[in-house]
Parts: sequence; structure tokens; C-alpha cells
Amino acid sequence: MSSSTIIPWVVGNWKMNPMQANSQQLIQDLKQYLQQNPITQQQCHLGVAPISIALLSVQQQLQDAQSPVKVVAQDLSQMSGTGAYTGEVSAELLKDSQIDYVLVGHSERREIFGDDVVKVKAKLTNALNAGLTVIYCVGESLEQRETGQAEQVVLQQICDLAAVVKAGQWHNIVIAYEPIWAIGTGKTASPQDAQAMHAKIREGLTQITVEAQQTAILYGGSVKAENAVELAACPDINGALVGGASLNAESFYKIAQAFANTKE
Ligand code: PEP
Repeated sequence: MSSSTIIPWVVGNWKMNPMQANSQQLIQDLKQYLQQNPITQQQCHLGVAPISIALLSVQQQLQDAQSPVKVVAQDLSQMSGTGAYTGEVSAELLKDSQIDYVLVGHSERREIFGDDVVKVKAKLTNALNAGLTVIYCVGESLEQRETGQAEQVVLQQICDLAAVVKAGQWHNIVIAYEPIWAIGTGKTASPQDAQAMHAKIREGLTQITVEAQQTAILYGGSVKAENAVELAACPDINGALVGGASLNAESFYKIAQAFANTKE
């Protein structure tokens, strides 16, 4: 079903990049594009997810941007509040620093850093209880796709989410469908395949929450300026989580424009 009333989101996941000087340049360049051609909050929510030590400085540098750009944490602790947990940053500490958005369940966290379902659920619970908006990542591996399990895997990840989100918290959920085989590989799911999975996710959400038609479902996996327009035209693709291409201001801006234009 078409969900054209949803304002799209375009969020850049900078991952473990870039060095400070490049980050400052990237922000400067992005601000310049937004100065020349602003994107309103009614057209598209913009966000960037820098490394944790840069969250506050990036937030400050973006304060005078012509269009608002949200600053998103790439991860949070499975522990809540404050305490003796060396190296961890809790949901409450993010909120205390006015960081209101966080990624949870990114496949790199799940695959490399052992974020299993128990940890992911704890992180979701902590983030939502602290009032953060979560961009929750789901997606299947190549093997799971090739053996016909993609839908089942993704819908199970949606069930994991549903197990912890309370009725009044769905407005703080954004979903990102990121097929693992498309992340950082240059391979993008075809708009048809992506749309089909997004429609399945929305159908799944409809069984769970009355907010299903208002929940943004982003696509992630080698999104570039060159494929953004086609992806943005799909009725259930409500934005993009962008890795590699978000490290280039022009590419990121063009992707944002592609989604913002669907709201004109
Ligand atoms: C990501 O890591 O969220 C991602 C989508 O990366 P890329 O765009 O580089 O595939």
C-alpha cells in the first residue's frame, strides 16, 4: 500500500569515518548545498550519524545549517542510566547531551560486535524508554536470500521489535531495510525487490500497530545519487540510510533531494 503521507528520511551513516578535518569539510560542503537549495522538514528529515566522539561537535557545526540536520548516534549501550560500565554510552547519556536519535541493530553491529537479539532488544528498550527515536535496521544475508528465507528473517526481526515497543512508542520508530549483501558492495536491491520487501514489512507492521501507515521504512544498501530517484519513486520506500555515499556532500545532498522531491 502506498504511504505517501510519510515524510521521508535520509540519514548518512558515517560509520568509523572520517578524520576531523574531512568531517569539517563534509559539513561545510553539505551546509553550502543546503544554503543554495534548502530542503524543508516537510519535504525530508535529514540526519547524519558521526562517530561517538564527534556527536556534539557535529551537532554544533550543524546548528546554523539552512535546513535542520539531525545528529544520530550509531549505537548505544545495552546498559541503562549511569554506572561502572567502561567504554559504554547509555540512552540517558545521549539524551542528556541532546542527541535524540540512534541506530539500533545495524548488521555490522550484529555480525561483527555480537549484537544478538537479546542485546538488540535491550538497546531498543533503553532507547525508547529514554525518549530517543530509533532507526531500527533489519535485513537478510545473501545466503538467506538465495535459500528463500529473506522474508522470514526480516519479519522475525520486526517481531523482535514488536516484542519491546509499547503502544505509545511507535511514533519513535523508523525502520531501515538493509539487505546485508547490498551494504558497501555496490550491489543495490532492485527497486522492485526493495519495494516488495518494504511492502511485506508494512503488512507485518499492520498486524502489530495502528501506526503502520505512518512508520517510515528506509532502504539502505549502496544507495547513490544515481539510483536514488528510482528508489524514491517506490511507494513504500520512505527514505534512505546511506553509508559510503554520505561521505560525499554532493552525493548525499542529491540523494536527499531525490526523496524531498517526492513531497513537492
Ligand atoms: C549502511 O551501512 O547503513 C549502508 C547502507 O552502507 P552503504 O550505503 O555503503 O551500502
